[in-house]
Amino acid sequence: MSGRVHVVGAGVAGLAAAVRLAEAGRAVTLYEAAPHGGGRARSYFDQALGCRIDNGNHLLIAGNRSALGFIDAIGARGTLTGPGAPVYPFLDRASGERWTLRFNTGRIPWWMASPARRVPGTTFGDYLKALRLRRARSGDRVVDILAPGTPIFRRLWQPLAIAALNTPLHEASAVLLARVLAESIGAGGAACTPLIPREGLSETLVDPALAQLRRRGATIRFGARLRAIEFGADRATALDFDNGSETLAASDEIVLAVTAPVAARLVPDLVAPDRYCAILNAHYRVAAPDNSPFFVGIVGGTAEWVFRKKDVLSVTVSAADRLLEMPEDDLAASLWRDVAAAYALPADPMPPVRIVRERRATFAATPEQVARRPGARTRWRNLALAGDWTDTGLPATLEGAIRSGVTAAGILGAGRRGAVENALSDKDFGFKVAPPSQSFEPLSCR
Ligand SMILES: Cc1cc2nc3c(=O)[nH]c(=O)nc-3n(C[C@H](O)[C@H](O)[C@H](O)COP(=O)(O)OP(=O)(O)OC[C@H]3O[C@@H](n4cnc5c(N)ncnc54)[C@H](O)[C@@H]3O)c2cc1C
Repeated sequence: MSGRVHVVGAGVAGLAAAVRLAEAGRAVTLYEAAPHGGGRARSYFDQALGCRIDNGNHLLIAGNRSALGFIDAIGARGTLTGPGAPVYPFLDRASGERWTLRFNTGRIPWWMASPARRVPGTTFGDYLKALRLRRARSGDRVVDILAPGTPIFRRLWQPLAIAALNTPLHEASAVLLARVLAESIGAGGAACTPLIPREGLSETLVDPALAQLRRRGATIRFGARLRAIEFGADRATALDFDNGSETLAASDEIVLAVTAPVAARLVPDLVAPDRYCAILNAHYRVAAPDNSPFFVGIVGGTAEWVFRKKDVLSVTVSAADRLLEMPEDDLAASLWRDVAAAYALPADPMPPVRIVRERRATFAATPEQVARRPGARTRWRNLALAGDWTDTGLPATLEGAIRSGVTAAGILGAGRRGAVENALSDKDFGFKVAPPSQSFEPLSCR
């Protein structure tokens, strides 16, 4: 008989693994150190602003098949909103120019040939040059392939790539960007349709997942910090939490879905990413008109993307380490000038603001750090790894994290060749569970 699966970490990777395993009929216990789920993707009530905010703006796109498979599995598709078409409004703060990038929905990207749809100042040939990314090698950086200083770089590749990779582009891996573009623009314009949580990240990703797990009889323990894992010759034998130990039965299994530095402390000899980049968010308590865009990309400003929520305009700046030490008032004022311009609001007075700095938002997506990503398998037969930092082939994103959770769940099922493996059919999630392949070979523990 199948044993219990102990999923440690209730970020989206752990939640996706737990939901997947519970759906497959496994007994699941989910442990989380914090008093809430969601990890780096969650909502909370902010006292200063007097309303709920997300820790950071998160944009999904229709091509995020793992994330949407998860959202469908927890019955939360109705919590997403967006423009309903693959459109991306931009403002150039240097020139004041505005444009809207309009992908056509089909696979043949004829939007590139249409001056009314593509980025002003670019040519069809500029887009074709990006095909060189398909031949990127593991050591290549984005700027080795896409020439900086060109209008298309400044107005398109830079805003998209910085947001996806959260790493300065002179350092960032070209291979990771190629993968992102293959699953978005390369999959056809419809795949680029933006999707945004209507209420918040927790209402879309976390609360429905926890509710689903409870309905399936899973045990959920918040405030349970894993301190150590005890190992035998080829399997983990016990989990030591701050508040007690859990001895594992012979058939029990673990999905370790904690952050990279925590996993590196818990698992002997684990090589994992160890450099991070910051993301900065500023939330302004101000209502923009309902008919204004869901978000605006900003070129040549301090802000990079501005999102409109019910009564909040939120700014994201990726790879934001350079801004972390800037005095809060100066930062808030500088970002607000961009926001006010993007949404045609008065620059004075600046509304109440909350600035959230996530210093270790994601691992730095450099070729060196990518080489440190472990696969989901470990040398212990009952321990699988999950998290956006594992070797998903994608940068640290919701899509990558959720895919890693499903992969870890699949590996545990596949390891035992039983009911779980059969129950883990692709149709549950609407995409293929990555089979154990080269990327899941024991890169993980040396
Ligand atoms: C500000 C910000 C903006 C972002 N924007 C986007 C975006 O627009 N689009 C996008 O796709 N992605 C975005 N991301 C990235 C995305 O949020 C992450 O990739 C994703 O949430 C990672 O999920 P995870 O489950 O791998 O890790 P985490 O969310 O970090 O989950 C790990 C969990 O493990 C718990 N834990 C840690 N140690 C222990 C322990 N010892 N015992 C028990 N539990 C433990 C933690 O509390 C946490 O809940 C953004 C991230 C940030 C921070």
